[in-house]
Amino acid sequence: MRAFGTTIFAEMSALAVRTGAVNLGQGFPDTDGPPEMLEAAAEALRTGHNQYPPGPGIPALRAAIAAHQQRFWDLAYDPDGEVIVTAGATEAVAAAILGLCEPGDEVVCFEPYYDSYAASIALAGAVRRPVTLRPSAGGSYAFDPDALRAAFGPRTRLVLLNSPHNPTGKVFTRDELTLIAELCQEHGVYAVTDEVYEHLAFTDAAAPHIPLATLPGMRARTLRISSAGKTFSCTGWKIGWASGPADLVAATLRVKQFLTFVNGAPLQPAVAVALGLPDSYYEGFRASLQERRDQLVAGLTDAGFGVLPSEGTYFVTTDITPLGGTDGMEFCRTLPERCGVVAVPTQVFYDDADAGRTLVRFAFCKREEVIADAVDRLRQS
Ligand SMILES: *Cc1c(COP(=O)(O)O)cnc(C)c1O
Repeated sequence: MRAFGTTIFAEMSALAVRTGAVNLGQGFPDTDGPPEMLEAAAEALRTGHNQYPPGPGIPALRAAIAAHQQRFWDLAYDPDGEVIVTAGATEAVAAAILGLCEPGDEVVCFEPYYDSYAASIALAGAVRRPVTLRPSAGGSYAFDPDALRAAFGPRTRLVLLNSPHNPTGKVFTRDELTLIAELCQEHGVYAVTDEVYEHLAFTDAAAPHIPLATLPGMRARTLRISSAGKTFSCTGWKIGWASGPADLVAATLRVKQFLTFVNGAPLQPAVAVALGLPDSYYEGFRASLQERRDQLVAGLTDAGFGVLPSEGTYFVTTDITPLGGTDGMEFCRTLPERCGVVAVPTQVFYDDADAGRTLVRFAFCKREEVIADAVDRLRQS
């Protein structure tokens, strides 16, 4: 694991603390989630929900996870055997890869990728086969369909797909998902989907969020992963889950039981409450993030950045070329000193670093006044 060093988030957040800069690097909200959820957690702490919960997660939470997927995506999962609770989406992804891959198996993923993916693939002794997402002329990020076809081979074990996608803010379209689904079936491979931003595809995206598991033939070979962290603004809770056919879920649970065994006893009933909140919560949450995206995008555009479309997630990516920048890493290391803002260079999320050399990611999951402050600082630099 030596090659993995320290994550960029640790480096940039430490830089923010040291320089007193506004941190738009790491994607954590600066407000708390729904009060009903917080109250339920406090109540659970006080009423004896403080010991090891059941390995697959408490029944109330598994039932709520299943009901939520039925309600929003028309996907039916049996809470007993087709749903497990994990220590965040991060653990679900790691346990799925460790449970499903043998050493030497290949995992197709899209770069730039969430940084735990490469590490989890390496822990399994598997090999990543990245397909590069590139900004298309004036439009959103896209991949070359032939590059995706070429990434599949006799050793491919699974496709790891994140949509809405961090760090690009891309929402995969139905056509793109259809190609991925066809290739999975042609090559007999599984799909593991990271859908932690399932409620954050913005209304002006080219496509709504479509779970890969809803495409023909895909439910039987897809493990769907999500988490409370992003949807309910509680990234420190680390309550995630995985749903899918019983064999894929069992393989994931087999690993999870030796990674953490169980997690978050008093938080599990609270997340069950949150999942049951009315549609108005989810709509309000998306509208609020979309407003703050617009606010940050306007400010970054004013400040001279090349702003790429953000169709979903907590993030927008920018090109620093119009500002005379040639290297995002260098740009981000000096940005706090130059104007008191922290951002993240996306080149660290590529195997082909040149593809992301001049791209920089900003988070907008922050209070309006924090974004306004950051924008003022960027404009004056
Ligand atoms: C934030 C994030 C995660 C981590 O989710 P946890 O539930 O905190 O483990 C996983 N995947 C992506 C793409 C993320 O942005």
